[in-house]
Amino acid sequence: MPHFPSSNCPRLIVKIGSALLVASDGGVRRAWLAGIAADIAERCRAGQQVAVVSSGAIALGARRLGLAKGGRASLEDAQAAAATGQIALSQVWADVLGAQGLTAAQMLVTLDDLEDRRRYLNASATLDRLLSLGVVPVINENDSVATAEIRFGDNDRLAARVGQAAGAAGVLLLSDVDGLFDADPNSRPDARLIERVEAIDDHILSFAGSGSGSGMGSGGMRSKLEAARIATSAGIALTIANGRTERPLGSDRGTLFVARPGASPRKAWLAGRLTARGRIAVDAGAARALKAGSSLLAAGAVAIDGRFERGDVVDILHEGQPVARGLSEYDSADAARILRTKSDAQAEILGYAPRSALVHRDHLVLI
Ligand code: GLU
Repeated sequence: MPHFPSSNCPRLIVKIGSALLVASDGGVRRAWLAGIAADIAERCRAGQQVAVVSSGAIALGARRLGLAKGGRASLEDAQAAAATGQIALSQVWADVLGAQGLTAAQMLVTLDDLEDRRRYLNASATLDRLLSLGVVPVINENDSVATAEIRFGDNDRLAARVGQAAGAAGVLLLSDVDGLFDADPNSRPDARLIERVEAIDDHILSFAGSGSGSGMGSGGMRSKLEAARIATSAGIALTIANGRTERPLGSDRGTLFVARPGASPRKAWLAGRLTARGRIAVDAGAARALKAGSSLLAAGAVAIDGRFERGDVVDILHEGQPVARGLSEYDSADAARILRTKSDAQAEILGYAPRSALVHRDHLVLI
């Protein structure tokens, strides 16, 4: 099968979009779910470990509560809908997987659970234990407590981060589109499906419209491409495919994003983070040196933005464009004091022996 990483990777994450789970009248698409559960059971019997990232809580809850705009009119509505829908969603998954002799486990995570290194390692250990016990983890964002600023908001990027945390080799995003097209397939009959993407460059990004096609979930092609970037730069293959078939794991139509040679797990975690505490602007010389693999020295840093502590994640920008991301060796106050200085002048400014760099190359990834 050319497209799917699903058949041959030991650990697979399958993300299922709201439009597949929930019918347009707001009910659960049970027959379809029974089909995918049978697919998953087949994979498990063949020795694969599968985790599911399942959307649908908000869409299901909105229906039960009679909320307008699919429960997405306000954050409070979305949270109430998610809390109501999630309990039903878990029950459905436990039922359909149980009917196949599989045990389901529920994990609800927030953005911070995966952005904070210690909590990330915790979540990772739980996933690992569940998968090695032969259980199928069913994961969703903990939408009922996550506020706007600290949300993933879409399960595409969540699935890519879960893939990293679980040490998966493949992530499969199932939704109601066939994959990435070079034009809008709804309005352009000549639109061509892109079957294989080696690098997510500006050309590829230009093919993403925005927003969710079904209007039910919150992801669209843009969040799928962002998920592909997170996954592939962590050495994980990602496929976008249409789940609107009877046994979707067996389908061979979709877009495969090829995994890049794996970065170290720590660097991959850093690259996949969605938030940074601060920003450091650098000059052209420093931007060049970073691209050649050097650390960021204070001499090449020209401005600091935001308040951060030593060890916090910072974005490094040149002329407003992100170049790299890393862990700062200084808090923002001290970093600001040594901007544009050489190391022999720093001890006097700081009152202590300076570190070898502002951001060390061991804790830095290029973007
Ligand atoms: N977590 C949301 C839900 O369960 C779905 C997010 C998305 O649409 O990607 O309803």
